[in-house]
Amino acid sequence: MSPERPLAERLARLIDSGGPISVADYMALANGHYYATRDPLGAAGDFTTAPEISQMFGELVGLWLADLWARAGSPRDIRYVELGPGRGTLAADALRAMRSAGLEPEVHFVETSPVLRTAQAARVPEAVWHDDLSTLPEGAPLLIVANEFFDALPARQIIAADGGWRERLVVREGERFRPVPGPAIGSATIPVHIRNAPLGTVLETSPASVSIMRQLARLIAASGGAALIVDYGHDRTSAGETLQAVAKHGFSDPWEAPGERDLTVHVDFEALGDAARAEGARVFGPRGQGEWLDAIGIGLRAEALSSAAPDRAKEIERARQRLTSPEEMGTLFKAMAIVATSWPDPAAF
Ligand code: SAH
Repeated sequence: MSPERPLAERLARLIDSGGPISVADYMALANGHYYATRDPLGAAGDFTTAPEISQMFGELVGLWLADLWARAGSPRDIRYVELGPGRGTLAADALRAMRSAGLEPEVHFVETSPVLRTAQAARVPEAVWHDDLSTLPEGAPLLIVANEFFDALPARQIIAADGGWRERLVVREGERFRPVPGPAIGSATIPVHIRNAPLGTVLETSPASVSIMRQLARLIAASGGAALIVDYGHDRTSAGETLQAVAKHGFSDPWEAPGERDLTVHVDFEALGDAARAEGARVFGPRGQGEWLDAIGIGLRAEALSSAAPDRAKEIERARQRLTSPEEMGTLFKAMAIVATSWPDPAAF
């Protein structure tokens, strides 16, 4: 195995000695290594996210949060929390917009990658970093943001095989990895509308995502505030394999070169919404990112930026289109809000 693929070697040894591993473990180890060893964002990297496309995205998120905060009575003690802040671009843009609206929150970042923590510190030096949600302070209301965070969390795959549903496990074949049907899964745990799906159907579930959403909702229910989740995925729990590997702005085989490509699955917004409701928080959406950005004023923001810098008008219009058009990020990407019962309804849902 080539030296530039150290994780593949470690995974091979793990499987040789301990037997096949779950798809969720494969994904967790691969992404843990991937994010710890690089900054994957932007034109020179592997993929580009909404805040890296245009400052309008972070600014509008900041204004949406500031509006909600103002209507909640402008509590002075308030915290901005971002999960997986990437390069810190969204936070920097959102914080600038929030300050212009009189909102100056304490800043907390949940981030595991040392490389990305360094990038975030360059843009938002005042942030306090956390490895996970368990160390977030309680007591003051929270304004939580997660953009393209949940799609990178580990998911299991369950496959309809001869004789019933089975958990997929990952085996090794030489230098390659491959999923195979493993132990039987009781059909009672499969959603009714999927239970009788044809042989070979794959169902993905992300216990890690559900657990994080429950923690978020619990914090919001206890301390007040809201969370905004933006990601690609479906409104309803549905069958179908969405696990994908992205490198250099293209799709590649998720079973090859683990740790060298970004592994993601589509987010199950129904499961996230159910998890939040179970903890006593209110859920709004999901709504298509395009509609949501239109409703909170991306058109006006684009006009204002263009008249301030007419030479950039084309580029600004192109960014607006990329973020909102149904053929690009407008429909597949969705926004969902989780709000405390003691807080007002959020705008644009
Ligand atoms: N939100 C940013 C970056 C998205 S990439 C943007 O929109 O540009 C995913 C981010 O989540 C990265 O910052 C990555 O390091 C972080 N991440 C992935 N898995 C994580 C985990 N289990 N815990 C904390 N952060 C994680």
